[in-house]
Amino acid sequence: MKFIWGKKEFTLMIIPGANRQTVRIKLPHSSLYVVPSVIILVLTGFCVTIYLMNTTFHQTTSTMQQSFDGQERQLVDQITLKNNELEQLQNNLIDLSQQADEFKVKLEEIKKLEHVIQLMSETDGTSKKSGALPSGMASRPNPDVGGAEVPVTSQEVTTLVSSTKQDLTSLVGEINTVLVNLNASEVKLKEAEQLRTITPTLWPTVTHSITSGFGLRKDPFTLKPSMHAGIDLDGELNDAVYVTAAGKVIEAGYDDEHGNHIIVDHTRGLQTEYMHLNKMLVKRGESVTKGQQIGLMGTTGRSTGTHLHYEVHKNGVQIDPSPYLINDRKDDH
Ligand SMILES: [Zn+2]
Repeated sequence: MKFIWGKKEFTLMIIPGANRQTVRIKLPHSSLYVVPSVIILVLTGFCVTIYLMNTTFHQTTSTMQQSFDGQERQLVDQITLKNNELEQLQNNLIDLSQQADEFKVKLEEIKKLEHVIQLMSETDGTSKKSGALPSGMASRPNPDVGGAEVPVTSQEVTTLVSSTKQDLTSLVGEINTVLVNLNASEVKLKEAEQLRTITPTLWPTVTHSITSGFGLRKDPFTLKPSMHAGIDLDGELNDAVYVTAAGKVIEAGYDDEHGNHIIVDHTRGLQTEYMHLNKMLVKRGESVTKGQQIGLMGTTGRSTGTHLHYEVHKNGVQIDPSPYLINDRKDDH
């Protein structure tokens, strides 16, 4: 290659070899300024472009970094929140488990109560096994707490969930059993209460003084041996006379032998009779409650003085009332 200077132009000669034709390129002088200028402009533009790209890249990187930082903070916050929620759930589970234990203790107390109720309602004094207490279920004392803090593991939580679930399922079953037993006990208690109400267990007088018992004795009028079919209770004229069980007045009248007398039917074949009354306070057909005052003590009919002749009839036969006289009226109301 060779440059040949002219007046307004210069020639660029390219000589490829000895046997080949020389290439001549004529260029104007101005190209000496134009070409470097173009090259400089191109380089400058290239540099500016690179600079701008670099700046944009940094800005984009910075923006992305800020965005990543923000997202990371959000994720950390969310993880912290979830951890707190998980911890709270674990605490709730532990509380629930403890409550299940306490509930179990209470259930055992209810079972004991149910057992007592069942015993109370057994009229024959024998106990069925359905209310028996399981062994080893006594309430436990509240233990003292303390010690090092050890984080709970997911396995421990899973085990606690499983055991709590089993406990609660078991408790529901036991509660259903207790409810069935309690309902049965309630029926028995009502039956026992009904039986107590219609059984003549009260003293019919204020005094508990028996002046003549049930059985053979000398008749006070004829002095001959005779059957005394009731008991005589001492008292003052117009002392209160109480009906000894709930029932219905089936007779309230007067005859020469019984004087003013009242017969009360208590169902189940039991009746009681109150004789020699000075005054009757109830009428035939009237229902009476246990312990209600039905008359005033007197000496009407075949009587030698103020007293109450009291009889208990079982299936129409007079029996000794003494074994029935268990409660005072004030004890029963
Ligand atoms: Zn008598």
